[in-house]
Amino acid sequence: MKKFKIPQNYKSSILANLKAQKKQADPLKKDFSPSILEYKNITFYLARHFGFCYGVENAIEIAFKAIEEAQGKNIYLISEMIHNPQVNKDLNAYGIRFLQNTYGDNLIPFENLKPDDIVIIPAFGTTLETEKKLSDIGVQFKTYNTTCPFVEKVWNRSYQIGKKGFTLLIHGKPQHEETKATFSHIKEHSNCLIVKDINEAKAIGDYILNKISLEQIQFLFKDRIDGTFDFKKHLTKIGVVNQTTQLAFETHAIATYIKKVLIEKFGETHINDHFADTKDTLCYATNDNQNAVQELIKYKADFSLVIGGAKSSNTSHLVELCEQAIKTYFIESELDIISKTQIKHTDWLTKETNLIDNYLPPHRPLKVLITSGASCPDKIVENVINKLREITEN
Ligand code: SF4
Repeated sequence: MKKFKIPQNYKSSILANLKAQKKQADPLKKDFSPSILEYKNITFYLARHFGFCYGVENAIEIAFKAIEEAQGKNIYLISEMIHNPQVNKDLNAYGIRFLQNTYGDNLIPFENLKPDDIVIIPAFGTTLETEKKLSDIGVQFKTYNTTCPFVEKVWNRSYQIGKKGFTLLIHGKPQHEETKATFSHIKEHSNCLIVKDINEAKAIGDYILNKISLEQIQFLFKDRIDGTFDFKKHLTKIGVVNQTTQLAFETHAIATYIKKVLIEKFGETHINDHFADTKDTLCYATNDNQNAVQELIKYKADFSLVIGGAKSSNTSHLVELCEQAIKTYFIESELDIISKTQIKHTDWLTKETNLIDNYLPPHRPLKVLITSGASCPDKIVENVINKLREITEN
């Protein structure tokens, strides 16, 4: 896989060595067992895959290239490039400003832009509506486009399927930048709708099988379709794609469920005319990180730590998986480890942050499971390890 130029302060030599050893021993990525870092009073089990993915490294390289080449021009990002506060803070420190917040509200009016300003498209991609606004101003937004190739793969595959008359069901968070971008690109050529989870997919299934009325389904999905969507006509041929950082097994469960419903409705013989297989659009990094966590939580430990930005979708799903097996703390960096007795933990679902007392059990040595999201620099993971090591040794 391509190697990217990323700032030195995001790298960790200890973790790079561990990852390299694992890679050498298991080049085909068949072994998902964790790496073990053992110290006197604490042992860390590090997930087989964690940290920066291809798309994030690609985005960081392009953003820093833009900074180098700016020559006094204004540099803007449509919104946060990735959901990591440290990376975004660093970009701000180099003078990059965000045009919108994560929810799509304008922070700087587009009317303020000039044709020679640099505008960076984030790794999630952006909507065609935003691209048009930039084009109308004359901004060359394709020069520093960091849209991840794995997001573009979803768009390309959707185009192929859509051309054959399939409706695309997008499994994603309706307010997430990537889901909005994917919806915008697909609706240009095909019918599509957004489903948040398996329960919403089941509502679609219930409508297809005449268990709920047209009015009910129209009400449930009123904000998830565009004006031309017709539930009576557009749910006979379906393919499922996703916001790439969703839980891969949930996307798989939704696709399997929709296929089952379509078999029930139209019979097995011609199912390929009604259901499009889209397994190949799942992001490798999301899959690897989630599979590595599934393996990690089989190890007995005192607690697990998941490190990454509170707004990061892929990190939140790692927390969701860990919590099913072990006491888990979701932290942004070593700064959230306040002391020997207090840790700042974020609820992955509500995003509320709370101080938790007595998070360290009294016995020694402690065993801690560690993973981090695809937008978290390894240096932060190393800092967390060092801080816990220090705390447990004193
Ligand atoms: S998680 Fe996957 S799709 Fe998202 S930026 Fe990383 S490689 Fe790309």
